[in-house]
Amino acid sequence: MDPQTARETLLRFRARLIDQNKTLTEALGISLEEEGGDESSDQHIADVGAVTLNRQVDLTVQENVERLLNQVDRALEKIDEGTYGLCDRCGEPIEESRLQAAPEATLCLRHQKEWEQSEGA
Ligand SMILES: [Zn+2]
Repeated sequence: MDPQTARETLLRFRARLIDQNKTLTEALGISLEEEGGDESSDQHIADVGAVTLNRQVDLTVQENVERLLNQVDRALEKIDEGTYGLCDRCGEPIEESRLQAAPEATLCLRHQKEWEQSEGA
């Protein structure tokens, strides 16, 4: 993929992620407010569990969005550095098919897997 196309794709992707992150932050803010407060309410325990579970899902989604944003930023940096498409660890070219599917990739498949394992993902 040529750097100019990659940059445009990444910038569009980035705008979408920022949007999504904002929506999630707002949604989380609202659900935190809803849960706070009235302890004397007779809310069923199962409902509380469901709300907590939903919030965990939202937090996980938000973590993923933030992780992707970091990757997109790093990929954009790499375009400026002239190392776009090369693995950040070993400097080997990242598989073209991977870049097509995920233009934010900054690691080759091998090092991506290692990284995901070290992240516990
Ligand atoms: Zn590598």
